[in-house]
Amino acid sequence: MPTSNLNIDAISKIRSARSIPKYLDSKNLTQELLQGNKIALSKAISLVESSRSEHHQIANDVIEACLPYSANSIRIGITGIPGVGKSTFIDVLGSLLTELGNKVAVLAVDPSSSLSKGSILGDKTRMQNLAKDPNAFIRPSPTRNSLGGVANKTRESIVLCEATGFSIILIETVGVGQSETAVHQMVDFFLLLQLPGAGDELQGIKRGIVEMADAIAINKADGCNLPMAKQAKMEFARALHLYPPKENGWVPKVVLCSAQENSGIGEVWKMIEKYIGDNKENGHFLSKRKEQNRYWFLNAVEEGLNRNFYNNPKIKSEMDELLKAVMENRMSPLKAAEKLLTSFYGLQQ
Ligand code: GDP
Repeated sequence: MPTSNLNIDAISKIRSARSIPKYLDSKNLTQELLQGNKIALSKAISLVESSRSEHHQIANDVIEACLPYSANSIRIGITGIPGVGKSTFIDVLGSLLTELGNKVAVLAVDPSSSLSKGSILGDKTRMQNLAKDPNAFIRPSPTRNSLGGVANKTRESIVLCEATGFSIILIETVGVGQSETAVHQMVDFFLLLQLPGAGDELQGIKRGIVEMADAIAINKADGCNLPMAKQAKMEFARALHLYPPKENGWVPKVVLCSAQENSGIGEVWKMIEKYIGDNKENGHFLSKRKEQNRYWFLNAVEEGLNRNFYNNPKIKSEMDELLKAVMENRMSPLKAAEKLLTSFYGLQQ
């Protein structure tokens, strides 16, 4: 019996976290990626996510070398509150896509996980078919708060997956926070999963997220949920009409599906394919990616400034002192911030 991919992927992630230095040659690593090596992909993502400054330049070199291989992929954001059925849906959609001959990578942006505490097996067992599929790759992408970034390495991970040969990238978020705005800036199509029977305000989904959606899929449209699902479809279709039209002329769709019964998922994929096809034809696909590059550039600058600032040992210790002074009312917050920034500028000269 072949060894389960579930174990291989989980073990490789644990190993990759420990043994990044082994791959500290960006050329070797890039070559491994281009040959489709999933273990190298795990390592490369760990390298990109690493906060150690010696990893930073190598990670950038690898990403730079991988960028030319990104053009033909499709990036899909999938969001929805916990329990709506995202992992079941992604398991079914991803399996359909690999059956159609695609290689599928799933990046799960989990605000609750961190580099050390990411739920390795948790994510694997949530998508049991895909976890065993040799043409799939699943990776939780922890969001780190220390540098103020949300999903700040997901964009880089997308590029690495694409260079490794994954042509469809599914990015999962939990639909309740800032991650969606960030992920929306990285994907070609943004899908919102909703439950039958309740309006968006009842489902804990922020209005802004509904507005970003290119389609809403009402999941769990099965059994006795069906009448409520149809009702929700009408309500969401009506709500979507209230938003201004999208720049590319696309009118967001509302569809019904059941991930559990595997119904409606094929239609969701056909809709996405049509969207991508239309957008490639009318030029919006490329212009959106260009716009996303602009956003990526601005983010990278911001992240670099943050890293430089917060990783500076002098700043760290002065920050602690100033924080204490603010908390004890010995200094105003603005004065303290000004003092810290002046010190930082002094260090740069
Ligand atoms: P997630 O938290 O959004 O990833 O949701 P899960 O995929 O873990 O699903 C949450 C629960 O809903 C699980 O018990 C699933 O079996 C169930 N579920 C998922 N999809 C469907 C569906 O299409 N119909 C029904 N009836 N249940 C579903």
